[in-house]
Amino acid sequence: MREIKTIAVIGAGIMGRGIAHVAALGGYRTILEDILPASLRRAENEIRVNLDKAVELGKLTKADADAAYARVEYAESVDEAAREADLVIEAVPEEMESKIEIFTMLDKICRPHTLLATNTSSLSVTEIASVTYRARQCVGMHFFNPVHKMKLLEVVRGLETEEATLQATAEVGRRMGKDVVVIKEAPGFITSRINAMIGNEAFYMLQEGIASASDIDKALKLGLNHPMGPFEMVDLVGLDTRLHILEYLHKALGEKYRPAPLLVQYVKAGRLGRKVGRGVYEYPEEATKKKAAEEKTAKVKSAD
Ligand code: NAD
Repeated sequence: MREIKTIAVIGAGIMGRGIAHVAALGGYRTILEDILPASLRRAENEIRVNLDKAVELGKLTKADADAAYARVEYAESVDEAAREADLVIEAVPEEMESKIEIFTMLDKICRPHTLLATNTSSLSVTEIASVTYRARQCVGMHFFNPVHKMKLLEVVRGLETEEATLQATAEVGRRMGKDVVVIKEAPGFITSRINAMIGNEAFYMLQEGIASASDIDKALKLGLNHPMGPFEMVDLVGLDTRLHILEYLHKALGEKYRPAPLLVQYVKAGRLGRKVGRGVYEYPEEATKKKAAEEKTAKVKSAD
């Protein structure tokens, strides 16, 4: 197995930008790509802000933060991002068709030794890997949100994933500062399966008028000692992402995972969570950031 020096991250949304942040801090040359230029601009800005915050809090020296920032490159196509990578981590939306499209492309673009990882929260690594000619080199790397703060990495073994691939990706995880658990593939792994269930139940309760969203959140925090309420959590995760996970669990594991109709309705209304400024709660500051990134991209385009 070749040493991993360059990591490409495909998809610069909530997760992709966080994965790029920790990859760069781990000392890897990091190349981040997204289909939307506005996502890349926002990612670049947030990586800078989060590194600066770590310096302010005394967790990182200014020199280390600057070095990490400089290690991140931004690519305009999957081809440009992946051709020199030793490991590619995919973080596009939680839809099987998108994952399959990206893995098919990566298998053609990447060098023979390159490992391909998916950050899927629930989908089958085996199924994603099956579209490649390198299923032994495909693996799940399930990071948590916000990636630069959360300690856990679930490394997921697909049917064909070989031991060397697991070891190499677990080692990358450790260099990124994560504690690693290696698990056998199962829908939703450990964390997403339990978390989706709690979050779905909370939407059923809200829909039934049992309590307000903030009181349900308060009850879980103060009564059960959860660090975040289920609605605060789903706003962070993204309601669309949560819905995709539940739809998949429902299909794979049965009726008890059927998505709550109120969650479906929120997604239809475009209330996708913090990332768009509005989910179960309102986040005016996030909406402003999103608009600013879009305007910056529009300006760059009109200047081209
Ligand atoms: P997101 O919607 O914030 O970001 C997805 C990004 O992918 C967007 O910027 C989008 O423009 C980009 N994209 C879409 N199609 C693309 C393509 N063909 N090529 C390149 N970029 C493309 O989503 P997210 O929350 O970052 O989730 C990404 C993955 O991570 C999903 O599989 C999700 O299940 C998983 N995940 C999410 C969380 C979470 O809390 N949000 C936690 C763990 C894992």
